[in-house]
This record gives sequence, C-alpha cells and structure tokens, in this order.
Amino acid sequence: SKEDGRGRWTFYDASMDDEREERNLLELDLRAAIDREEIGVVYQPIVRASDYRICAVEALARWTRPGHGPVSPEVFIPIAESTGLIDLLGLCVLRSACFALRQWPDLTISVNVSPGQFRDPAFVGRVGDILKEAEIEPSRLTLEMTETYFIQNPARARQTLDMLREMGIKVALDDFGAGFSSVGYLRQFGFDRIKIDRALVEGVADRPRDAELLHATVALARSLDMPVTAEGVETQAQAEALKQAGCQLLQGYLFGKPSGQEQITQMTVSLDDK
Ligand code: C2E
Ligand code: CA
Ligand code: CA
Ligand code: CA
Repeated sequence: SKEDGRGRWTFYDASMDDEREERNLLELDLRAAIDREEIGVVYQPIVRASDYRICAVEALARWTRPGHGPVSPEVFIPIAESTGLIDLLGLCVLRSACFALRQWPDLTISVNVSPGQFRDPAFVGRVGDILKEAEIEPSRLTLEMTETYFIQNPARARQTLDMLREMGIKVALDDFGAGFSSVGYLRQFGFDRIKIDRALVEGVADRPRDAELLHATVALARSLDMPVTAEGVETQAQAEALKQAGCQLLQGYLFGKPSGQEQITQMTVSLDDK
C-alpha cells in the first residue's frame, strides 16, 4: 500500500500495471499487423426472408495475433478506436471488402464504420477513392454505424450522411434495440436500413413480450420506409417469426457463419443453378 497524498493509505494494485502493460503490447502488435496488412476479413451471408437466398454479405475484421492466436474484434476494435488506429484499419477492411465484391456480381456488401472514422474529414473522400479503385458501384456498398456518433454530434453526422448519400452509398443503423435507439434519431437521419440487434431477436420465437417488441419495432421502421435486417438468427423458429414480423433480410448462424471468400463464392454459384 502507499499514501495517496492526502494522508490516506490506499492499496497499490500491481495487477493494474500488468493490465496496462499487456494493453500496450497488444496495441503495438495491432499497429504492426495493420502496417503489414495482416488484418483479415471474413464475410457473413445475409439472406432474403422470402426465399432464404443470399443477397448480401457483411464484412467482419479478423486478427490472429502472432504467438497468441485469434483475438476477438470485441477486444481489438475498441483498442483501435481508442488509439486512432481505427482509421487505417477501417479503410483496410473496406478495401478488402470492395475488391472481394468484384467476384460476386449479384451481391451487395456491408462494412462497419466506427464513430472515430466518421469524424475524420477525409473519410468520405477515401471511401469514394476505394470504390473507384475497385470499380464498385456506390449503391452496392452499405456502411453500418451505431447510434453513438449520431447522439454525440448530430449536426456533423447529418452532413457526413448527406455526402455519402449524394455519392449513392447506403447507410444502415446497426445494433438497433441494443442501446437507447430513440425514434427521434430514426426520423431525423432517415437511414436506408436498420439492423435489429441479436438481443432483440433472441426471444422472438418463445417469449411473447419479445415478439411484441419486435413487431412494434419493425412496424415503426417500416412506417419510416426503412427496411429491416435481423441479426443473430440461429433457429428456424426465429427465422419464421422474424419473417412474419416483416423483416426483409436475415443474418445469423442459421444461414452461415462469417466465412472466407471461397465459401461465399460457392453460395453464389448455387444461386445460378436455381
Ligand atoms: P456487429 O457489427 O454487430 O457484427 C455481428 C456480430 O455478430 C459478428 O461478431 C458476428 O460474427 C456475430 N454473429 C453473427 N451471426 C450470429 C449468430 O447467429 N449468433 C451469434 N451469437 N453471433 C452472431 P464479430 O465478428 O465477433 O464482431 C463483433 C463486433 O466487432 C461487430 O458487431 C462490430 O461491432 C465489430 N467489428 C467487426 N469488424 C469490424 C470492422 O471492420 N470495423 C468496425 N468498426 N467494427 C467491426
Ligand atoms: Ca454490423
Ligand atoms: Ca450489429
Ligand atoms: Ca454489435
């Protein structure tokens, strides 16, 4: 223990130094991985509720840390966000995703964007450059964003959204129903699509209250002309309930885990057979 300067004794916790140290090492390795273009991208199928056929994919970042194994995005994305590495990481993922999309002419692609990236004034221009470089029609790209940025900086968020829209890019509100998600934001920003969070999807097949909440949410989105994607669909019963509630697109382990490019290509090839 040591004195805290006001004459009181507090316990000095050595494990806190270890944690900080470990985080610094993690950050160094992440920085190196971005520099060496070692951030991988996997693609999760998104299917139409009407016939369960793939129509889009969501790009998700993956990182295998040398000597440690795979690190969850739930761990490395927040580190990238708090250190400013997210700008580079995000553009790496976007570039990989746009080039992968060239192989899938029938699909569109969703890419996650952190609030920090959205704040960079150069962001919109960079996105445009990548689309041009990959020769991808802007309307085939959806950027997924959570409500954080819209709450923190509504005026700027509006401007950036308008610029993206003018270019023809789509914007989806991600994780809807997980946070505060007020109706006001939906109306104010007019997203092209909303994605209903897994937490809201989980109980739809067996908890009446959850089903009611889902129905109300989908009805609200539809009244604002925003099509709905449900995420985290794991069972057939959930899929049926979501379809009934009016969700047009479904995403979850039931239809496919995040996978490599070859697997997605296989899924689109079997589309042509039908
Ligand atoms: P998210 O954007 O909400 O992505 C969906 C997450 O749910 C993914 O986790 C996906 O693998 C997982 N998932 C999909 N279907 C199911 C299911 O049926 N059941 C369950 N239990 N999980 C399912 P993942 O890949 O670990 O990514 C976690 C989060 O990390 C993402 O949540 C997103 O917020 C963030 N993230 C991932 N890649 C990127 C990126 O390139 N940029 C940014 N800014 N964030 C990213
Ligand atoms: Ca997402
Ligand atoms: Ca989500
Ligand atoms: Ca999420």
